[in-house]
Amino acid sequence: MSAAADVEQTIAALRQEVCALHAQLTRYGLVVWTAGNVSARVPGHDLLVIKPSGVDYDDLTPENMVVCDLHGTVVQGDHAPSSDTEAQAYVYRELPQVGGVVHTHSTYATAWAVRGEPVPCVLTMGADEFGGEIPVGPFAIIGDDSIGRGIVETLRDSRSPAVLMRNHGVFTIGPTPKAAVKAAVMCEDVARTVHISRQLGASLPIDPDHIDALHDRYQNVYGQR
Ligand SMILES: [Zn+2]
Repeated sequence: MSAAADVEQTIAALRQEVCALHAQLTRYGLVVWTAGNVSARVPGHDLLVIKPSGVDYDDLTPENMVVCDLHGTVVQGDHAPSSDTEAQAYVYRELPQVGGVVHTHSTYATAWAVRGEPVPCVLTMGADEFGGEIPVGPFAIIGDDSIGRGIVETLRDSRSPAVLMRNHGVFTIGPTPKAAVKAAVMCEDVARTVHISRQLGASLPIDPDHIDALHDRYQNVYGQR
């Protein structure tokens, strides 16, 4: 197969995958209206696949996903890309290990972002998935790469795949788009449980050594080998 046919086949598969993953955002109640999106890097190419802007979740198809370069310029597609494309393109440019990015305004996680407060690591699931607190990123205006810079500055040296962008919402990263979606689901669940536990009293801390051990086991041993 020619190199051009090869990349077209990769893009076609990612259009399917990215489209299908959006159903998880609605399934877990992480989004309302058309807010929120999933993107994927096209491995080996300076390209990404992302949701079109302002299209209802029920109307998403593999064909209306948009392919952009890593500066957010549309390469393939009849629709404008998500308004978060520049931010996500910046993440792919700066963090080569990232294969997927997700953005939501999921309620409980965003409520922590509104207060500018990281979600403390007081659940074993938080230790597993995030390896510590879920950090807060800076306030940033939508439309240029300032959101992307805030995401990268916060996550570059963190074990957490999720950042709570102040007064805005959640961005998650992963080696695959599915992993980034999972982090977004887990982020909301952890934020919700810790919020509810706070209503009832103080949280009991988890020893940092235990957080390290839980995170290591979950990332390296847990699940199907
Ligand atoms: Zn947003």
